[in-house]
Amino acid sequence: MSRGILTLVFDDGYQEVFDQVLPLLQQHGIRATFAVPVETERVAQPEGVTIASLGAWKDACRREGHELAAHGVTHRPLTVLNDAELERELQESRAATGATTLVYPGGTFDDRVKRSAARMFRAARTTAWGIESLPSRDPYALRTLTATGKNFHWWKFFPRELQSMLINGWTIETFHRVTERPTHLHDVSLRDFARHLAWLRHLPLRIATIREVMHAGSP
Ligand SMILES: [Zn+2]
Repeated sequence: MSRGILTLVFDDGYQEVFDQVLPLLQQHGIRATFAVPVETERVAQPEGVTIASLGAWKDACRREGHELAAHGVTHRPLTVLNDAELERELQESRAATGATTLVYPGGTFDDRVKRSAARMFRAARTTAWGIESLPSRDPYALRTLTATGKNFHWWKFFPRELQSMLINGWTIETFHRVTERPTHLHDVSLRDFARHLAWLRHLPLRIATIREVMHAGSP
């Protein structure tokens, strides 16, 4: 019997994730959550790094059964916006993606942002480090384990997945760019990531999108 749930989230919609991670997920029959802002050109990125368009992500997610999460329009932190701007960022990103999950741009949120998110989404993911309980105590402040070039090796994340199985918890792993040539803080090596996926298949963990977890929790 499976105990615990694992969710894989990919932030910002990097082209390399589109080209190389999507086929890997399909090969393993794994569905994931992709958080992509409407104006992808607004995501600050290193020279030479590209982001696939929201349209391309939308098509791919629909075709392959992945979840597309809202990630704002302009990718600005929601906490610095006035009420009208906040409303517009959430409403327009929801309309453009059809999402029921929000991923806070930059991970920042406060009580006002949470209240707005709660009016429009079923859940929202932060960048606070941690494993969620099931059901989640606060669906608008979902915690995650963010992979970086430093902390991520398939054998380093393994104990956390084991822990989530033992406590019947919900581990949400967040990735940004997955690439053959990692150069920046949040870049994860494609080879390590592929090994990670191969390992996950052998664990009796359920792998599901945030949307699937939240909808399963409702009566
Ligand atoms: Zn982002």
